[in-house]
Amino acid sequence: MTETVELRSGTTMPMVGFGTWQLRGEQAYDAVSFALETGYRHLDTATMYRNEDEVGRAVRDSAVGRQDIFITTKLPAERRNRIRQTLEESLSALGTDYLDLWLIHWPPGGAAPDVWAEFIKLRDEGLTRAIGVSNYSVAQLTELTTATGETPAVNQIPWSPKHYDPAVLDEHRRMGVVLEGYSPLKGARLKDKTLTQIASRYGVTPAQVVLRWNLEHGVVVIPKSAHRDRIAENFAIDGFELNHAEVVAIDEI
Ligand code: NDP
Repeated sequence: MTETVELRSGTTMPMVGFGTWQLRGEQAYDAVSFALETGYRHLDTATMYRNEDEVGRAVRDSAVGRQDIFITTKLPAERRNRIRQTLEESLSALGTDYLDLWLIHWPPGGAAPDVWAEFIKLRDEGLTRAIGVSNYSVAQLTELTTATGETPAVNQIPWSPKHYDPAVLDEHRRMGVVLEGYSPLKGARLKDKTLTQIASRYGVTPAQVVLRWNLEHGVVVIPKSAHRDRIAENFAIDGFELNHAEVVAIDEI
């Protein structure tokens, strides 16, 4: 799946990325290596996941050039007083001199425009190509824009049929913020009849239907798996499309 979306910074972000939360040590290295072999060109990590070393090593050992991989990592809220230091530590662990996207992992006690202002500075210095947030409400996104004149390129939030909220999706679109959905599979009941029926119609799995549903809405997805068969399955979602009625049926789950 090679579909991409343009971020407001002009950076191109692959719509399907590989999530790495709860992958540690050699398991993280192996899974990321296999994801890159499979064709994923977007990796999602965080300081908190404690796997940036392994992600970086897998990138360096792969046959894919750094410039062809979109790397996201995140500032933990409790590091709000060590922002530059945390970014430098991430760069060093990942073995790269720039990030593609750096996110504020959680609102550090409110929207925190002061933290956002520091993000803008570090982006302008070239340490990261794009900046965004995670787990922010629409009101908090607005607060950052009003305070600094700069709207986050991305908001990474939980997103699945269970979380689907058309008003939230519309607001992100209106503000030009790319909605990146996390826990797309954990948040879905893969045995749900709507999903299994659509899956059998196309000869795919319910997990693939959920991931495809996100893409039909323009939502970026970052499924995680520790298993090769699922890593490949989650990436193989370009052989079918959902029609309008199917998308609506999943919206209504
Ligand atoms: P996911 O929705 O990606 O689900 C992962 C779980 O689903 C694992 O238990 C995995 O098992 C299983 N799974 C994977 N593929 C399949 C499949 N094809 N069929 C059935 N089961 C499958 O959950 P995550 O919470 O990991 O979210 C994805 C990513 O989002 C994270 O890895 C992280 O990068 C990011 N994230 C960000 C957060 C934030 O606060 N910003 C919070 C949470 C996640 P197995 O590994 O055994 O295959």
